[in-house]
Amino acid sequence: MTGTDPVGTTADSPDAAPLLELRDLRKEFRIEHGLLGRAKGALRAVDGVSVTVHPGETVGLVGESGSGKSTLARVALRLEQPTSGTIEFAGHDITKLRGAALRDVRREMQMVFQDPYSSLAPLSTVAGSITEPLHAHRVGKRGDREDRVVDLLQLVGLSPDLRNRYPLEFSGGQLQRVAIARALALEPRLIFLDEAVSSLDVSTKAQVINLLADLQARLGLAYLFISHDLSTVRHMSDRIAVMYLGRLVEIGEAAAVYEQPKHPYTEALLSAIPVPDPVVQRSRRRIVLTGDVPSPASPPPGCRFHTRCPYVMDVCRSVDPEPYRTADGTTVFCHLHTAGPKLEGRSVTELSAPATP
Ligand code: SF4
Repeated sequence: MTGTDPVGTTADSPDAAPLLELRDLRKEFRIEHGLLGRAKGALRAVDGVSVTVHPGETVGLVGESGSGKSTLARVALRLEQPTSGTIEFAGHDITKLRGAALRDVRREMQMVFQDPYSSLAPLSTVAGSITEPLHAHRVGKRGDREDRVVDLLQLVGLSPDLRNRYPLEFSGGQLQRVAIARALALEPRLIFLDEAVSSLDVSTKAQVINLLADLQARLGLAYLFISHDLSTVRHMSDRIAVMYLGRLVEIGEAAAVYEQPKHPYTEALLSAIPVPDPVVQRSRRRIVLTGDVPSPASPPPGCRFHTRCPYVMDVCRSVDPEPYRTADGTTVFCHLHTAGPKLEGRSVTELSAPATP
């Protein structure tokens, strides 16, 4: 079915139940001022986002800095409490879990951060860092844990002989492999990769991406892959979700989002990716967004992107766009599909936007 989707759900695979299901998730942070810490307002970091991740699937989450990607992941992991909305993992509502029940769920969901130097304890050996989650969850005895370190280092392509070294003795790529080994220690089903390859050089990034793909195939892992870099996300992802100012603006199959973007913001992000062929590159239209990103503490009314959108219409300034489900399964939040040029699910590239040479 195409057209307005009142539920606002995502381009789901119809044949599998989701592993993670976020429904209408919101996260606000109080803005306080003065010595008494009186509430001055609220910063809406995540504002009504619905996303699913299926077993063995990679969902790429993209958007500029401040779009709410990392906050969404932290809320989904229950490192932050959502303001409203629900989080389901493997069919169970985990939104309000506490104590031992929450700890059990956290075994199934792990996170790998951008900077392994700061995510691993500098005074702990690699073996100490990898076994830390096993200690915290009281998994195995000492001998079992030592065996597990050897297995995990081999799994991520590192020699077990390195297990008694310290983080400063490793390169960035090696250390990110250690961080991945640590994330795998509790045998999770879902890993959040928060800009996990963004700080690596090109060849190391390719090696770590190949490792992640190999681990996914061998272990059946699901990934939520967070990045500001759409070209890396496309390479990794089955589906891509695009966020702007705390909201989802488009989500669909990776090829559909990449080749037929339905939202002007997605189109602008894609236009910034260089193409290796110089002839093709010269013929491409670069869309440079003007204007500052509005503050999440006082987002604009109507469509949040309207202050920077090259296609803005009157309706955009006052009416929030409803989700629109297109024929290729993408869900997009933009009036272009229902008002004005009535794209009705076709690519936004059909329109002629003001271009920057
Ligand atoms: Fe642009 Fe309007 Fe679409 Fe928002 S709803 S992205 S302002 S055309």
